[in-house]
Amino acid sequence: MSKRRLLITSVAVLALLGAACGGDNNGAKTTTSRAQQPKFAAGTTMARLQAAGRIKVGTKYDQPGFGLRNPTTGKVEGFDVEIAKRVAEHIFGAGGGDKVEFTEAVSKNREPYIQNGTVDLVVATYTINDARKQVVDFAGPYFVAKQDIMVKKSDTSINSVADLNGKKVCTVSGSTSEKNLRAKAPTASVTLFDTYSKCAEALTDGRVVAVTTDNTILAGLVQASNDTFKLLERPFSDEPYGIGLKKGDEAFRSFLNDTLEKIFKNGDWAKAFGATLGKLGLKAPQPPALDRYAASATATSTAAGGTSATTDSGGTASTTPASTSTTVASSTTAS
Ligand code: GLU
Repeated sequence: MSKRRLLITSVAVLALLGAACGGDNNGAKTTTSRAQQPKFAAGTTMARLQAAGRIKVGTKYDQPGFGLRNPTTGKVEGFDVEIAKRVAEHIFGAGGGDKVEFTEAVSKNREPYIQNGTVDLVVATYTINDARKQVVDFAGPYFVAKQDIMVKKSDTSINSVADLNGKKVCTVSGSTSEKNLRAKAPTASVTLFDTYSKCAEALTDGRVVAVTTDNTILAGLVQASNDTFKLLERPFSDEPYGIGLKKGDEAFRSFLNDTLEKIFKNGDWAKAFGATLGKLGLKAPQPPALDRYAASATATSTAAGGTSATTDSGGTASTTPASTSTTVASSTTAS
């Protein structure tokens, strides 16, 4: 199949998947009147958002199952999208899911978008870790993924992360996937794009021999690959997904954790999973335990001042072992 034809087929499959991932506010179509809306203390972010009548959320636009823009409707669909809508319903009342304004947030944009107010929240396969907690805060986790590897179905040479040494491997800048890859396969030749769908294209046409990131993201890409890719199922990290918010907004973080706790208990979380990731054949796990970590005393410190040697914030490159070569692919070169 020609590259162009494969691309068109992939887009069509993604669109179909996206359509299957629909699921609008659990059928809640009515809008709550102002008087019936949840009440929040004056001065809180929840009160401010409610008064503004909208919440801006950064999410992925090209990850089947989590956040995928449906090219037909223009709407973004997936588990992360559903989580964001449930949060909005707890701010605005029934029908609040319609008040979410989604913005595409690729991996390296997540911290800056939160910090500069482009978005109020990021719900975007966003791993909670200490380096990121230096610059943003997290509610959650609401899901725990694991990093894994995707190769061509015909490939029998790669069976573990160590096998990536010396090979051309694609991942995304500003992700934990890049950091973990460099730590576990230090002599891999790393190609970086800004999205995983571009890595999938590079795998299709042989620019790389493997793609590595969270198993859940790869599962969506495998499903969309027309039976040409496979997931190794050799996980090598834990990736607890959190809702990213501005650092130091403790009342908002508590509210978000309370909301997650409610939807874990009332079945909305499982329903959202079934309508999205469930369609990829994934079985709903138990919701994870929330981590209501204590507020840090370094609310104004930057990632650079942190304890971690590497940081994913703001697109800052992780430290690169001398033996590792890197190709930073421009986002426009992969069509
Ligand atoms: N969960 C990982 C991260 O937050 C990888 C997936 C992604 O880049 O969205 O970096």
